[in-house]
Amino acid sequence: ILEASFTPMWMETSGCGVVAVFHDLTAIRRLEQLRKDFVANVSHELKTPITSIRGFAETLLDGAHQDPAVCREFLEIILDESIRLQRLISDLLDLSRIESKKLHLNKKWVSVQSLIQSVIKTMEDQIREKEMTLDLNIPEDFQIEVDPDRFRQIFINLLSNAITYTSPGGKVMVAAWNKQDHWVLKVADTGIGIPPEDLPRIFERFYRVDKARARASGGTGLGLAIVKHLVEVHDGKIHVESEVGKGTTFTLTFERKQPETEEK
Ligand code: ADP
Repeated sequence: ILEASFTPMWMETSGCGVVAVFHDLTAIRRLEQLRKDFVANVSHELKTPITSIRGFAETLLDGAHQDPAVCREFLEIILDESIRLQRLISDLLDLSRIESKKLHLNKKWVSVQSLIQSVIKTMEDQIREKEMTLDLNIPEDFQIEVDPDRFRQIFINLLSNAITYTSPGGKVMVAAWNKQDHWVLKVADTGIGIPPEDLPRIFERFYRVDKARARASGGTGLGLAIVKHLVEVHDGKIHVESEVGKGTTFTLTFERKQPETEEK
């Protein structure tokens, strides 16, 4: 969107001509608007769990604690909301560290199969409860050079979304292979899918297709923004394809390097 908003900041006339300095106010205004939206979103996201924690704590103190069942139910809500708050703050800190380029990558050669298996281990209960099938197609000797902790974070976010947004009995697939001079990794599910009009925005901070559903699942709305940044700091690319009611596939590509031992 081009808006004619160039304003001369100062002008100077000299004997041989005019010098003018222009500032592109459109870009400045756009950045300012993004900053305002972000602060408003963060405030809203923080306010919601705090309001809930405060409300349930007050009701307990007003006498609800005398009924043990009600007491337990309200304490569980307070605990869940505190966990959500903690996750939100930790995601926000991660995002700000990545965006301010303060993130130091500690790259190592890692086995993709063991890394993915260790992530899946933390989600076993959810997978079992939803009776989902997991299909791993990663060669045993498939290694890539990445920061293992950051790479784990990418797959925690992608796989927990795949499980959350897929109905019971569905399927989640993870695959990895070499394609010419690239490593390709895929996380696919047979879930609810993402409408085409939402697809371009899902990597934005706090963007959710279905706010109520996403909140109920305990998400912060920051997961994919973090994934995109982490992929980019590894000089990789992320691409998403989706069909409503059929499923979603995230494809990650990274420039391929050779382990040192192979070069010798
Ligand atoms: P959230 O914490 O809400 O899951 P994310 O940034 O991880 O936030 O994802 C943003 C939104 O993208 C989600 O709210 C959801 O609407 C959509 N989404 C992400 N992954 C999937 C998926 N695998 N299937 C369907 N929708 C998804």
